[in-house]
Amino acid sequence: MNAPTLTIVVPCYNEEEILPQTIHKLSQLLDSLCIEKKISSKSKVLFIDDGSKDSTWTIINKACLHLDRVAGLKLSRNAGHQHALLAGMFAANEGSDCIISIDADLQDDITVIHEFIDNYQKGYEIVYGVRKKRETDTLFKRKSAEWFYKLMKKLGVELIYNHADYRLMSNRAVQELKGFEEANLFLRGIVPLIGFKSAKVYYDRKERLAGETKYPLSKMLSFAFDGITSFSVTPIRLVLSMGLITFIVSLLFSVYCLTMKYLGRTQSGWTSLIASIWLIGGLQMIATGLVGEYIGKVYKETKRRPKYIVEIDLFNLPIQKNN
Ligand code: UDP
Ligand code: MG
Repeated sequence: MNAPTLTIVVPCYNEEEILPQTIHKLSQLLDSLCIEKKISSKSKVLFIDDGSKDSTWTIINKACLHLDRVAGLKLSRNAGHQHALLAGMFAANEGSDCIISIDADLQDDITVIHEFIDNYQKGYEIVYGVRKKRETDTLFKRKSAEWFYKLMKKLGVELIYNHADYRLMSNRAVQELKGFEEANLFLRGIVPLIGFKSAKVYYDRKERLAGETKYPLSKMLSFAFDGITSFSVTPIRLVLSMGLITFIVSLLFSVYCLTMKYLGRTQSGWTSLIASIWLIGGLQMIATGLVGEYIGKVYKETKRRPKYIVEIDLFNLPIQKNN
């Protein structure tokens, strides 16, 4: 097999602190892979500026001018990590045999990219980077991630345990990704749905070298909730079962109350009355909220708005380099 053309896709949002290091390390890695003849000399690393407010784009633009291996894509506004990834993969799709996605902070070990390519050469269309351990995470993040994967499994969603968005995809697999048109994008759930022959490569994940996480607790929880509701209708079914159970229990309770009344032993009843009003009221609100969440998702999907808008594409329309 000929050496494949690889594009490494890196979404960046306010990453000025780490970006110079990332550019240096990834272009160096591509150079060495080219020298080993593992990948073709046309291989590149494509940085996507996801509407950053700092000097991220200036850094990318400058690197594009001076370095052969670097290309850039500027989105018109902040479209979010998942959409930025998609923008990069689709822009790189035409000119690449395979695409690797990786975060800008290089928490994921780039040395395993060798193994990614080896697996691709063996015929695997998708290679998942899987974290061996989660010791660099806080106890809370570790535990919540564990519960999330367990919950998703219970809900029947196939996810690769401890895999984030560090993966290799063949050109064909990325092409198939275009068929998944959903606006509520959760790539970790979608990619396994493509099927094809896939492999896993294990690695150690490091701490972020500089800058702050762009996924604080609230954003992380909302991402997880989005993942659940985009992939499973089980929560809405649970609401139905909860409603049925409450209805049956209240029927039995009514029979009990009527019997008591008939026997002349009526309760004063304030506590039970208030408790049930609050309980049922709470349950109803949860149920309505959950149904609303799904309706909101349907609403978003029906509008078919563009997921992202590319403002400048220095991958498909490269600028004149001046080394
Ligand atoms: N990111 C992005 N758009 C956003 C938020 C994040 O492109 O709206 C990028 C970010 O620059 C990084 C990657 O997504 O390359 C993952 O973010 P981060 O490392 O902060 O997440 P964590 O590793 O803490 O979960
Ligand atoms: Mg990170």
